[in-house]
Amino acid sequence: MAEIISGKVISAAVKERIAKEVEALKQEGTTPGLAVIIVGSDPASQVYVGSKERTCIELGMYSEKYELPETTTNEELLSLIDRLNKDDKIHGILCQLPLPRHLDEGKVIAAISPEKDVDAFHVQNVGRIMLGDYDFLPCTPAGIMEMLKYSNINPEGKHCVVIGRSNIVGKPMAMLMLHANATVTICHSRTKNLKEICKEADILVASVGKSKFVTADMVKPGAVVIDVGINRDQNGKLSGDVDYENVEPLCSAITPVPGGVGPMTIAMLMQNTLTSAKRSKIN
Ligand code: NAP
Repeated sequence: MAEIISGKVISAAVKERIAKEVEALKQEGTTPGLAVIIVGSDPASQVYVGSKERTCIELGMYSEKYELPETTTNEELLSLIDRLNKDDKIHGILCQLPLPRHLDEGKVIAAISPEKDVDAFHVQNVGRIMLGDYDFLPCTPAGIMEMLKYSNINPEGKHCVVIGRSNIVGKPMAMLMLHANATVTICHSRTKNLKEICKEADILVASVGKSKFVTADMVKPGAVVIDVGINRDQNGKLSGDVDYENVEPLCSAITPVPGGVGPMTIAMLMQNTLTSAKRSKIN
């Protein structure tokens, strides 16, 4: 039986610590503030934004939510970001992606001040992650590293295979594993011998976006398996990228879906907002 790495339990511990730090910072006169922007009415984005706002309030932080219509122009969105960049109450700005097609995602990410870029998507923050000298880490990979730490799983000297090379998960995940002294392989849709490579992994991270993509014959017995995927079937039922039922008996530890990586992502967003608020006191 594998150890179940519970994002619910670990994120609760992380949030408890953050709430205490928020309280202490408030005593010193600073309330960490997060502004979340959503454009259009994508149902999944609405759910994510709602839970970010709720968590923010639950941890004693200041929250602003901007729900903009589908017809919002680049100029209107950039002007809101410019205003939030200058607002001292706001320490973190998050623009929920994906944006409607007519909006320029690259320009929007570049417009958020790197000091308030709590998603860590700005090119300056991405570069700093590469160098290992950063204030913010992208929330999902950071959450995964926190889960491993909490579960006493040290990546040093292990072979970590990351399936997926997105800017949000796969690439920064590989970089954080490298900083943690793992030997890292990144796989993607053009990778040959995917099964054989995955089977060599001591730590296997799946961020593909395809339900039950990782099957039992791709997993080395005793491996640690981290499932980033969030997939919904026709009935709205959630599943990860890993065939959990058949993989779980094989591995030493595994994250479930739901209740695995997802809750950690939000906890790390709160961590980044707190970090930004602390830094604003120094500068
Ligand atoms: P993405 O941008 O769509 O990237 C998917 C990656 O999987 C790509 O690099 C793609 O390769 C690779 N891939 C696709 N088919 C493959 C195949 N047959 N063999 C090997 N690699 C293949 O996705 P993402 O943003 O990383 O998200 C992945 C999943 O994680 C989604 O389900 C998303 O909803 C979920 N997610 C969850 C959280 C969370 O908090 N739990 C956060 C972010 C994302 P190419 O580059 O060659 O196309």
